[in-house]
Amino acid sequence: MTEPKKSEIILKGIPASPGIAKGSVYLFRKHEPTVEERILETEEVERELSRLEQSIARSKKELRKIYDFAEKKLGNNQAKILEAQLLILDDAIIFDTVFERVRKEKKNAEYIVQDEIGKYHRLMVAARDEYTRERANDLEDVRNRILRNLQEQRLVSKFEGANIVVGQNLSAADTLILSRNEVLAFATEIGGATSHSVILARAMQIPTVVGLPHVAGKAHDGDTMILDGYSGMVVINPSEGTVRRYERKLKEYKDFEKQLSTLRHLPAETLDGHRVQLAANIELAEELEFVKMQGADGVGLYRSEVLLLGKEVFPSEHEQVQQYKVFAEALYPKQVIIRTFDIGGDKLMMQAVSEKNPFLGWRGIRVMLDKEDLFLDQLRAILRASTRKNVAVMFPMVSSIKEVRNAKKFLEEAKSQLKAKDVLFDDKIKVGVMVEVPSAAVIAEDLAQEVDFLSIGTNDLIQYLLAVDRSNEIVSSLYQEFHPAVVRFLRRIIERGKKGEVWVGMCGEMAGDPLATMLLLGLGLDEFSVVPTMLPEIKKIIRSVHYTEAKHVADKVLAMQTEDEIKTYLLRIMKEKFPDIPTG
Ligand code: PEP
Ligand code: MG
Repeated sequence: MTEPKKSEIILKGIPASPGIAKGSVYLFRKHEPTVEERILETEEVERELSRLEQSIARSKKELRKIYDFAEKKLGNNQAKILEAQLLILDDAIIFDTVFERVRKEKKNAEYIVQDEIGKYHRLMVAARDEYTRERANDLEDVRNRILRNLQEQRLVSKFEGANIVVGQNLSAADTLILSRNEVLAFATEIGGATSHSVILARAMQIPTVVGLPHVAGKAHDGDTMILDGYSGMVVINPSEGTVRRYERKLKEYKDFEKQLSTLRHLPAETLDGHRVQLAANIELAEELEFVKMQGADGVGLYRSEVLLLGKEVFPSEHEQVQQYKVFAEALYPKQVIIRTFDIGGDKLMMQAVSEKNPFLGWRGIRVMLDKEDLFLDQLRAILRASTRKNVAVMFPMVSSIKEVRNAKKFLEEAKSQLKAKDVLFDDKIKVGVMVEVPSAAVIAEDLAQEVDFLSIGTNDLIQYLLAVDRSNEIVSSLYQEFHPAVVRFLRRIIERGKKGEVWVGMCGEMAGDPLATMLLLGLGLDEFSVVPTMLPEIKKIIRSVHYTEAKHVADKVLAMQTEDEIKTYLLRIMKEKFPDIPTG
């Protein structure tokens, strides 16, 4: 009897690492230990304690092995992501209590480990900030590792052939261990685009989609899967038609990439000679080669807060200089704009601060202006990396002139401190602010008097302008890039900024949306800073149009009253002019 054909299941998740893959599913089952409570005889207690000690030692050994592997494969910086777990294993507060409780309560080690670590875990899972929740994953991983070793079981992470790894949740350690096999892609239920495992997957250039509802329950070992790391679509048991469509898409994508590669070293210039800067947004040093290969005009946004991932304390000035220099050297003579730490909001926080409304809270420049020493450390580090004059500094979440003036005072203070020690730096380092709070947009002209450039952060600007939380799925349909208010606001910022004689760029995701390119060009944007994978597409559009034509498009859009109207119009132009370029 032939098996009934499995039906096709389509899931939509969050695209986390680009690329398209097709292959068989390998379901990664985490060891979920079943733990029973057992009362020990008095004479058993010592043996239990030494069993616990050995399991912790074995867990450390395992983690060190993974750490060494990560260091070899990805370098020291990425390996550090695993330090968080090693630190937990050395945490005296947790483990002294665990030993003490086994001794006093005379209960089996598995039960006490599960119970004690479980308490911390529950607290961390409930935290509002992503950083603490990410640490909860680390803690869970460590607990399961110790329990597995107590139960003397081995971790199964080897598989035959090339597969797409599907799991509920992958820790950074899981991602690394699994990558010793031939992994075509990762698909998980849990995880944000900035989780440690995603950062590692991206560094290893493995296509990844996260946030896929129940994918681990819906996919089975050996099922065929198609995963699109650009759009976040995953198809389980694709029909022949879907396979054909994706194979065509993959081929088209590859052909298109080949065609685009010829553009890499040409300027981002319209047919009638209007030149703009086309830069890249970057988070990891591992992306530098790719950014250069894509022919970027430098880096328009380096999200420096990524340096804080997996860290207990802020990196020292020295550590920061090393990192910033890697970027400045690799891209010289092109410019690298380093944004000072943008922590708070939904991003990591070094200390647990509970805020009812974190997006409207202690975030970005507000934090750094309060943490004077840390701010000065970072500014000195940025200055010290600027000796070749290709580094600029940018402040996030600015909402008033006063904040900019204060931030600049810190910059001057950092300069004086370096001068006092005869340390070299670029005294004329360019300073910019992000325009991502509506108040900053309203005073763009005044801001321009204070700085050298403005960079529009549409990701936040849209959420604050439209009162739509950028990470709340319930209102995601209201988060509209092409809302007429957004478009008119952009025009205002660009015009006012230019009136103040500074250049105006954009580093929010909208800059990398091909549907927006002609409009933004026509609005007069001087710089587009986009995810590195989108550089060729955006350049192709810019190089294929006249500036006058783009201005005409912008004028038409500015007169429209609904997002639907604007999108329909822009889609029509894109379909006519650029049928090859995928548009949402
Ligand atoms: C933005 O808000 O548009 C931006 C680029 O910053 P981030 O996404 O890091 O908040
Ligand atoms: Mg922002």
